[in-house]
Amino acid sequence: MSHSITNFAHEELQHVSRQHLWYPFTQMQELEREPMVVIESAQGCWLQDTSGKRYLDAVGSIWTNVHGHCHPHIDEALRRQLDRVAHSTLLGLSNVPAIECARKLMEILPSGLERIFYSDNGSTAMEVALKMAFQYHQQTGQPQRTRFLALSGAYHGDTIGSVSLGGIDLFHALYRPLLFEVEHVPAPNCYRCPCQASFPGCRLACLDVLERALEQDGQTIAALVLEPLVQGAAGMLVHPPGYLKGAHELCQRHGVLLIADEVAVGFGKTGRMFACEHEGIVPDIMAIAKGITGGYLPLAATVTTDRVYQAFLGEFAELRTFFHGHTFTGNPLACAAAIATMEVFEQERTLEQLPAKIARLAAGLTPLKAHSQVGDVRQRGTMAGIELVRDKASKEPYDYRLRMGQRVTLEARRRGVFTRPLGNVVVLMPPLSITTEEIDLLCQVIGESIAAATSS
Ligand code: PMP
Repeated sequence: MSHSITNFAHEELQHVSRQHLWYPFTQMQELEREPMVVIESAQGCWLQDTSGKRYLDAVGSIWTNVHGHCHPHIDEALRRQLDRVAHSTLLGLSNVPAIECARKLMEILPSGLERIFYSDNGSTAMEVALKMAFQYHQQTGQPQRTRFLALSGAYHGDTIGSVSLGGIDLFHALYRPLLFEVEHVPAPNCYRCPCQASFPGCRLACLDVLERALEQDGQTIAALVLEPLVQGAAGMLVHPPGYLKGAHELCQRHGVLLIADEVAVGFGKTGRMFACEHEGIVPDIMAIAKGITGGYLPLAATVTTDRVYQAFLGEFAELRTFFHGHTFTGNPLACAAAIATMEVFEQERTLEQLPAKIARLAAGLTPLKAHSQVGDVRQRGTMAGIELVRDKASKEPYDYRLRMGQRVTLEARRRGVFTRPLGNVVVLMPPLSITTEEIDLLCQVIGESIAAATSS
């Protein structure tokens, strides 16, 4: 009988993991001290490790999981697709699930977004968006529009183009010599307002800053890139209502394309299918990934309007082709998972269940606001961030070396809840299928974990 990795004893898995794996965003030296939790199986919102311990997946397997793990409809769709073909290329051929997935996306995307360019993950979806926006202007008589505008604290992925857009020094500063220049305008941040104002009295002074940047450089800017409504990796920064709509209007006035990165916020996470719907805007280009397959498989899409698409048409010799494509673009298995994920949204009326769950989460998080080390609790839809501070009155952050967010999540892990922090912010982003009982448990454990970590 062949010896599969799953037959390895728990200790052996830890040993091989330590010897040969290099984990993402992880100081590997620490693995010596803190053994990895090794997940073996999952069901619904619960992950199970090789020792049989269960964890509530409070971060939705990094913001991807939508309908829960091992969902029978998605599992079945994948099995059926496996019997047909696992992969065939979209370079020179098409495949059935890639086409059907595009049709299904048409039913849910904001109207006006009608061309689907597939890739593999959020970063590649953003690379595609950047190249598309750049080339669009090259081919529509505005070749001087070569620059991009992004928000402070932006995070759009880990590839060089998306890192260029990034505004998180901890992750991005080291790579500056490799990156192209991007202008960053201060992001709206109501807890630490860059304009020293408060909403709604400020009347969105942060939009004035954006307006000034566009008035100054608008003619050379290809696109404004932003995460609509919630800047995830910046620490679940929730934008004030009206910012997105205002930014969209400014872009239109200045002939600048708007690229909406819905990689994190898309597929129900804000309470609507896409965050842009809350403010009734249709961006020129939208990037989607993560939740598109329900969190099952890597798949992403950069979707755009007919206006952008038309700029790429012409005789081959005119060289207007979009010369971009990844090996696994439009992978049939991933597209089958995406179709099934969208079907489950309909079958289970997922979006209709959300208001009650969002309210329950808000109610569960409310008591945390009173904690002496909790500076801010931010929530939009099922996404939440709890910012821990050393001093509540002055909002002084904890020294990053104390790793307070990490300490809280380790306490939570001991109590059977898995999440991953962003600096001093404890992040919650469970699958949309989470039950109200599970939400109550989650909030209770997070409260206990904050108390335990900040008092020790
Ligand atoms: N954009 C946003 C807003 C994200 O949150 C992420 C990932 N967290 C990405 C892009 C990059 O996605 P991926 O990790 O799939 O490359």
